[in-house]
Amino acid sequence: MLDLEKLGWEAGSVGELDHRLLTAPHVKLRSAIAGEHGDVVYSVDLRITRPNTEYLSTTEFHSIEHLLLAGFRKYMLDHFISVAPMGCQTGFYLVLLNEGDAQRICGVYENILNDILAAGEVPYARAQDCGNYRNHDLALAQVVARRVLADRSSWLQVV
Ligand SMILES: [Zn+2]
Repeated sequence: MLDLEKLGWEAGSVGELDHRLLTAPHVKLRSAIAGEHGDVVYSVDLRITRPNTEYLSTTEFHSIEHLLLAGFRKYMLDHFISVAPMGCQTGFYLVLLNEGDAQRICGVYENILNDILAAGEVPYARAQDCGNYRNHDLALAQVVARRVLADRSSWLQVV
C-alpha cells in the first residue's frame, strides 16, 4: 500500500471528489497504481480554473498543452508519460512513472510556468508537429501561467 501522505498529498484530497467543491488552481493526485514489479503510475490533475465556473479557451488550452509537454520533457524526461487536456477545459491530466512526490511535481510545474512567461514561442506549433497549428497564442498562455503562479502557495489545497 502506497503512503500517499508521505508523498505530500493531503488525506482526503486524493481520488475523485465532488467537482462543486474544488478550488483552482490546484495540483491533485487522482490515482497511483503499482504494477506487480513495484513501478508506480501516478495520475495528477493540474486544475487551472474552477469547474463549472470558468473555462480556458481552446487556444489558451492548446498552447498551454504544448508548453507543458515541452516542459515536462525538459524537467522530468525519465518519469514523464503524458499531459493531456481535460475535456471540460478546466485543466490537464498529468501521468508520471515512479514520481509521485507532491513537492517535486509542484516544483517542476512552477519551473515550467516560469519558463512559459519567458518563452519566445509555442513549441511544436508547426504543421508537421501539430494537428491545428494555427490555433496558438503565446500571450494568452502567458496570462494563464501568470495567474496559476500567483496562487502557488495554495496549489495543494484542492477544496
Ligand atoms: Zn497541437
